[in-house]
Amino acid sequence: MKGYKGRMVDIKSLTLEELKKEMERIGEKPFRAKQLYQWMHQKLARGFDEMTNLPAAMRDRCAALYEYTAVKQVRMQESAIDGTKKFLFELRDGSLVESVWMKYKHGNSVCISSQVGCRMGCAFCASTLDGLERSLLPSEMLDQIYAITLLTGERVSNVVVMGTGEPLDNFENLLKFLELLTDENGLHISQRNVTVSTCGLVPRMRELADNKLQITLALSLHATTDEKRRKLMPIANKYSIAELMEACAYYFEKTGRRITFEYALVGGVNDTKEDARELTELIRSLNCHVNLIPVNPIKERSFVQSEGEAIAAFKNKLEKNGINVTIRREMGRDIDGACGQLRRRQKAL
Ligand code: SAH
Repeated sequence: MKGYKGRMVDIKSLTLEELKKEMERIGEKPFRAKQLYQWMHQKLARGFDEMTNLPAAMRDRCAALYEYTAVKQVRMQESAIDGTKKFLFELRDGSLVESVWMKYKHGNSVCISSQVGCRMGCAFCASTLDGLERSLLPSEMLDQIYAITLLTGERVSNVVVMGTGEPLDNFENLLKFLELLTDENGLHISQRNVTVSTCGLVPRMRELADNKLQITLALSLHATTDEKRRKLMPIANKYSIAELMEACAYYFEKTGRRITFEYALVGGVNDTKEDARELTELIRSLNCHVNLIPVNPIKERSFVQSEGEAIAAFKNKLEKNGINVTIRREMGRDIDGACGQLRRRQKAL
């Protein structure tokens, strides 16, 4: 996999404990670790040169020893409807990732990417069309949030890992990212305000449960039978819906956190009342919530959005069956099409 991982120590991906050991290793005083950590994760410094209370010689030394990741804004689109901002960032090796900033009543939410591209191959998704280029480092996931905080001048309170990539396909880095993001010496975002979305890598879902974090796990279900799901999501050839449901129950058992099911409504594919009934059967015994997403059509594929009426009927049916359901507000629908399209457009230039 290309990237620069392994060349130099990626300092922004170190926990405070690791940073203390690193300072010891290079013969710096231990208290420097906390100073450095605060500069990186609270003051969101863009480089060592901004760390004005560190001796100049130490800053130079750090710059020579460590990789200091950063993202550069290449584009930004702002929605005239709801103020949603979609950012296209360039990483140090030239890779491009998308992140989205959304303003809600309860606070600001950022949706980040976990990989450059994706190898999961979901049929309706633009992020996977060119496959996976590489996984993101913990620091590069943080950088998206840090850059958006600096660019908007507003605090981020919620983070969703729902941008490009499959977060559980970048598992170790995801865990490290979550640790740094929620650390009290950093941005200190509450675990309860973090959502990780997966297409359903069953063993990793179970491993995540064993970590007993208080984050929300969202499962992209999108179909009620294995046969239908296989047509939309290649991962369904590997894990059955029955296995997924068991993993979801396990997640709830270990963490006490309600599962979110994402269900993209695709016209004529998975949006009938019968689908709603089957969905109810599948999930009724679980403590969960359903998020209906009217599919965002991408030009490379022929999927269409369900009719407004079908969406409303689907929602009603679930509600009547006692399922907790919301329709995802289509934030920023005027600024572009589906996830991953801004990046594709830029790459094609
Ligand atoms: N790989 C993870 C997270 C990234 S995708 C996952 O699969 O969950 C985030 C969500 O957007 C998933 O539910 C995904 O299925 C959905 N999605 C992708 N492309 C979409 C599109 N064109 N329209 C609607 N939802 C889409």
